[in-house]
Amino acid sequence: FLVLQNIKKSFGQTQVVKDFNMSIDKGEFVSFLGPSGCGKTTVLRMIAGFESPSDGTVTINGKNQNSLKTSQRNIGMVFQAYALFPNMNVFDNVAFGLKVAGMAKPDIESRVKDMLKLIHLEHLADRYPYQMSGGQQQRVALARALAPKPQVLLLDEPLSALDAKIRVSLREEIRQIQRQLGITTVFVTHDQEEALSISDRIVVMNAGRADQIGTPSDIYNRPATRFVASFVGTLN
Ligand code: ATP
Repeated sequence: FLVLQNIKKSFGQTQVVKDFNMSIDKGEFVSFLGPSGCGKTTVLRMIAGFESPSDGTVTINGKNQNSLKTSQRNIGMVFQAYALFPNMNVFDNVAFGLKVAGMAKPDIESRVKDMLKLIHLEHLADRYPYQMSGGQQQRVALARALAPKPQVLLLDEPLSALDAKIRVSLREEIRQIQRQLGITTVFVTHDQEEALSISDRIVVMNAGRADQIGTPSDIYNRPATRFVASFVGTLN
């Protein structure tokens, strides 16, 4: 459904993504796991259209995305944190993309309501971001990303700024919503436990390449390289 074919990316002389290949099924939850600087965010940004590949193609639902702008790609994104519009309340944050798309007002109202129900924040529609916890803000960011019904959801370390306890409960909530909607999802993280607990498949990235692509059980029990073994903590 989401196919990355021979993707390469260089910034100046430095090749940060080296021949990356992957095919993600419809409805699948895939994590890109690796240390800082391994290129995982760069791959995500190429799926989103914020960066163009130096080489290779991004295909979604059979359609080559390379020449499409971010706004034409039918994707939703959630970033690390603090990405809500600070001067808009929850309702307007979630409604933003729908207004831009020209949706009629009654339809916007019912869609936003559905989205707030999905994240269990119906009662906070009038709040502003500064009046909410980090976890609540990230749930609103998720609702905002999902409101236009994108075909792919991209999550870039959405939990990394939160407390450990909230991180665990929110990742379970994200996974549950993802399953409920059946939306194809790519989740970037440097946290092994997070990737192992949440994913259908994991891509372990090392210096711009996929060292291993497999289920959490494959990655944990049958690491393909020493790097994978040491990064997921099975090599002491
Ligand atoms: P992190 O979690 O630290 O973001 P990452 O695995 O997501 O790590 P990337 O953000 O993809 O890594 O970055 C990979 C490499 O590419 C890094 O060395 C980074 O400095 C470099 N890089 C990323 N974007 C640019 C850019 N616009 N110009 C130059 N170099 C860049």
